[in-house]
Amino acid sequence: MLNISVTKTTAPKEKPEASTLGFGKFFTDHMFIMDYSREKGWYDARIVPFANLSLHPASTVLHYGSEIFEGLKAYRRADGKVQLFRPMENIRRLNNSAERLCLPQIPEQDAYQALTEFVKMEQDWTPSAPGTSLYLRPFLFGNDETLGVHAVHNATFVVIASPVGSYYKEGINPVRIMIEDEDVRAVRGGTGYAKCGGNYAASNRAGERAEKKGYSQVLWLDGVERKYIEEVGAMNVMFKIAGEIVTPMLSGSILPGITRKSCLEVLRKEGYKVSERLLSVDELAEALSNGTLEEAWGCGTAAVVSPIGELCYKGTKYIINDGKIGAVTQHLYDTLTGIQWGKIEDPFGWTCPID
Ligand SMILES: *Cc1c(COP(=O)(O)O)cnc(C)c1O
Repeated sequence: MLNISVTKTTAPKEKPEASTLGFGKFFTDHMFIMDYSREKGWYDARIVPFANLSLHPASTVLHYGSEIFEGLKAYRRADGKVQLFRPMENIRRLNNSAERLCLPQIPEQDAYQALTEFVKMEQDWTPSAPGTSLYLRPFLFGNDETLGVHAVHNATFVVIASPVGSYYKEGINPVRIMIEDEDVRAVRGGTGYAKCGGNYAASNRAGERAEKKGYSQVLWLDGVERKYIEEVGAMNVMFKIAGEIVTPMLSGSILPGITRKSCLEVLRKEGYKVSERLLSVDELAEALSNGTLEEAWGCGTAAVVSPIGELCYKGTKYIINDGKIGAVTQHLYDTLTGIQWGKIEDPFGWTCPID
């Protein structure tokens, strides 16, 4: 058990209008912080007024990118209660990311306590308009005050919260995606499976180039052969090919998404044929040209699912499902959002109400 000290703000902020929320623009009144040193372990767990952090200019994170993060949401149900969705999955993934980056892990129960006590304190900030939620951003970084390069001896864990708007204010519109054949996001043996800031820094260039050409994001290929599909933007990707749901298997360079896992569990429970395997861009192009590619979508916490209406590969454009959201994509959206906002029964035990 952590002993979490609480310092309340003396200047509570006005809560923003639901229509102005957007993503990650507003932050709640408080934040959770705790520090780590090799000698003391995790210490000084505290909830304090939301404020800038003060870092030594030599702090490890600023030079060597020792940073990992998580993203999950608190949802307000119709009865007013606030609930989390599979938070232990995020905590386990945080620790897997920490292990990869040589950052200290947090005992699962302590991380869970930190998260839930913080959400309980900030729960009034969970908006109630359709599709809105309170986005939680736990992050952990190396904080040694020296330029020496080594596994860190000091670290800081922070959780901040941001009320966010509906991802689909204008309805679910399929996006245009470009298959990226130059930059790669990650390689096996690298940090692809870890949710670390550096992966994002390295993928921004391809994203920017795609946007300039009128695409929303890129479809990433594997870093070794540039042949196998990995992810779409910062989401996992799934396809329906000749009746079967296909998603790239977790090979080490793919981020193990909790939305991905949840989609697969829903589909398997309902008897869909689901396959986690290698999927080459040639197989995809073949399915696109012979009409067996029925649906394609990205999946992640922010959007839940994001249907892909067009794919461009080496200059050829392919339209998927007439550019409309497909039945399986829509079904996954309805099921997951139904469970998250407590609108339908949760047969999996995924939701976690805050008391
Ligand atoms: C966070 C993330 C995802 C999605 O994970 P969820 O747990 O479903 O939100 C997918 N790919 C990348 C690269 C990510 O960082």
